[in-house]
Amino acid sequence: MKPRVRFAPSPTGFLHIGGARTALFNWLYARHTGGSFLLRIEDTDTARNTHEAVEVILHGLRWLGLHWDEGPLTGDATGPYKGDRGPYFQSQRRENYQRRVEALLVHGLAYAHEGAVKFKMPREPITIPDLIVGDVVRQLTDREEADPDFVIVRSDGQPVFHLTNVVDDLEMGITHVIRGEDHLANTAKHIALFRAFGVPPPQYAHIPLILNADGSKMSKRDQGALMTAYLGGGYVSEAVVNYLCLLGWSPKGNREKMSLAEVVEIFDLPQVLRHNARFDADKLLWLNGEYVREMSEDRFYELSVHALAKAGCDTNAFPLEYVKAALDTCKGKFRLFSELPAYGGFYFTDQFDYQPEGVKKDFTPENKPRLLKLRDAFARLSSFDPGALEAALKSTAVELGVKVGVLVHPTRLACTGNTAGPSLYHLLAVLGKEKVFQRLDRALARSEFAG
Ligand code: GLU
Repeated sequence: MKPRVRFAPSPTGFLHIGGARTALFNWLYARHTGGSFLLRIEDTDTARNTHEAVEVILHGLRWLGLHWDEGPLTGDATGPYKGDRGPYFQSQRRENYQRRVEALLVHGLAYAHEGAVKFKMPREPITIPDLIVGDVVRQLTDREEADPDFVIVRSDGQPVFHLTNVVDDLEMGITHVIRGEDHLANTAKHIALFRAFGVPPPQYAHIPLILNADGSKMSKRDQGALMTAYLGGGYVSEAVVNYLCLLGWSPKGNREKMSLAEVVEIFDLPQVLRHNARFDADKLLWLNGEYVREMSEDRFYELSVHALAKAGCDTNAFPLEYVKAALDTCKGKFRLFSELPAYGGFYFTDQFDYQPEGVKKDFTPENKPRLLKLRDAFARLSSFDPGALEAALKSTAVELGVKVGVLVHPTRLACTGNTAGPSLYHLLAVLGKEKVFQRLDRALARSEFAG
């Protein structure tokens, strides 16, 4: 039988990195085994659910490329998911829960209690066979010893998580429940419910938690904890997915940068690590930089234009060839797309400020005649290409008896506003003679050069 797995988030808050990893591990397992991956929104707690949280979950999964395999056709023909299979929503499956509760009541496995319905929990310990953590024997706590029964329908008629979760897993034919370790404490109840329904429980695989780098428990307030930080923060989805794969799973040889296709090939549950994973923001940043460096020109171009537009920089006002040549000098030089506007934004505006540190060091009276001489040398060039620019700058430095850097730094600052950035000769060539001269003149007119 082909495995059937599901990601079953409750839309009560934003998609957490732990949730995204749970979704990913389920998706990987389904893809590895040729099984099915389902998405089920556990939205029975009407007081705590928000529509916005559902949107964030759907958007996050799509961004990560974790597509679900089945679900009801979305009724709304004009909605964003037109012609698409939506996720299952528990709020649309209420009759199923009712029917199952009635069956339990009829068989004496549940009973009415102060307006609520309680499930009769077996009085003996339950062993949870778990593919990751091994066998866990759930002993009854003292309090449970006195009364292990638990509410499955509240007095206001709302079915409780344990019930809806089990009924859906059962009816959706879920074979493997892969979820966060925080749910291990619920699993004995779930196994007991499956048995009451006369069905063997699925296999369980509880994934250890994600901790902060310092070993403390990660909460949604911690840096990097929410997926929204990645969607809007200049990250590349391939890098985030790659990083999430490594959060609690480790391939042989400790390989780190791997394509999703490679991970699908070798992913399996027994290799999920039994100890808690630590979130390493630096490693994620490094991976992101690797993906940016290696991505295709087209994708780099697309994501760059998007990042620049987000920062208010409209590349449409420039010829396509100019934009491409400019971005080419930035590729591989930054790790996050959100760094690009500061790194390469100077190509698309003349109205930039100069870094004050650089102004102090490089815009000086003794540099003025040097820059003027360099300007003359540039003016004599018949072709404004990187090789010619480099040769002109170097011979000017020799004539002046100064190091190359003495000319490079003020020129860069004048033309970009920054003290660091793309290769100087290449950026000058991209800007072109006219812009370079305008920028040199604008800088040379500043009072710092007059002393
Ligand atoms: N709705 C539960 C949660 O968000 C799902 C638990 C499960 O995967 O079984 O934690």
